[in-house]
Amino acid sequence: MPAIQLAVPLPTPPLNVVPFVSVERMMRLVLQTGIERFLAELAETIENDFRRWNSFEKHSRLAAHSRDGVIELMPTSDGELYAVKYVNGHPYNGRSGRQTVAAFGVLSEVWTGYPVMISEMTLLTALRTAATSAMAAKYLAPQGARTMAIIGNGAQAEFQALAFKTLLGVDQFRLFDIDASASEKCARNLAKAGLSPKILRSPEEAIEHAQIITTVTADKQMATILIDNMVGPGTHINAVGGDCPGKTELHPDILRRSGIFVEFEPQTRIEGEIQQLPSDHAVVELHRVISGEYLGRTSGNEITLFDSVGFAIEDFSALRYVRHLLRDTTDYEPLDLLADPDDPRDLFGMLMRAEARL
Ligand code: NAD
Repeated sequence: MPAIQLAVPLPTPPLNVVPFVSVERMMRLVLQTGIERFLAELAETIENDFRRWNSFEKHSRLAAHSRDGVIELMPTSDGELYAVKYVNGHPYNGRSGRQTVAAFGVLSEVWTGYPVMISEMTLLTALRTAATSAMAAKYLAPQGARTMAIIGNGAQAEFQALAFKTLLGVDQFRLFDIDASASEKCARNLAKAGLSPKILRSPEEAIEHAQIITTVTADKQMATILIDNMVGPGTHINAVGGDCPGKTELHPDILRRSGIFVEFEPQTRIEGEIQQLPSDHAVVELHRVISGEYLGRTSGNEITLFDSVGFAIEDFSALRYVRHLLRDTTDYEPLDLLADPDDPRDLFGMLMRAEARL
């Protein structure tokens, strides 16, 4: 696939108008691009941004915790563009017909501070999380892995499967969820994508013969989805669901046996599986592997763990990629978001002239 160029300037919309990508338009963009191509190009964009890690301002996300979940802000900037995502994580939202994870985001130009795009990011988060997981697995999973267990078959699951199929050629999926209807939904959706996943009755059965284990469950407590003796040598674990203080999926003994790879260490120490380990336990930031500074998997027997929590640069890359896709289209909603008086200092006069028109 040719390297994608994201530097193409966009036609400038009028100053007061900000392109808004709604859920409907995001779905159109993904389907017109093709889900697999979208995932591959998004993974490439994230990988390229991880390669220039030092050009980004990086902060752990700002989290507001409550009894039922968390609301988070995830900002970053590369000095030219600034991005921020608003995202929640409410594991029990499904009971009232809501998403566990819902999000939207803003991309702005740094030199004026003006937003250049606002987008839904619920779908985009599922796509970027899956693209990041598969991108990490390219460096960490055993060579030629074809079989992945997916534990937790909710909103993120199919995206994970398709990203691993697209980037690594994984084509055997073994599903387990405590709610059988989630696994059935996931299997139906994956069958439409030409896959034949198997639904299993326990996590132990699901991980049999799996070279890759993805855990993507939602629970607002320390859960133990995998215990130590379930994980054989050579396995790659893609741990996605534990992403908050007090919310983990793996028994700590697994962590002690694994080579651990993280996105942004200060944030993962607070939110990831490694919150269960002493703060000096060695981990490697993934960008160091991508840049060749560290090896990813070093042997066929090693257990590798991608302790995914989701980092702001992935959202920055995702928004930048979506903006790139918008370059040849006006298929967005123009939001009248920014006041644009004839004289920038005459904001009040603009209001008075509007009154005269009422
Ligand atoms: P979801 O609520 O749609 O699905 C979660 C599924 O997990 C449900 O089907 C539930 O029945 C299942 N589950 C719960 N406990 C289980 C257990 N013990 N064993 C097996 N299955 C179990 O949620 P989602 O949107 O798919 O998100 C899943 C998790 O991933 C959430 O915790 C979310 O916060 C996290 N997440 C992480 C990232 C990241 O970047 N790391 C991004 C998005 C979501």
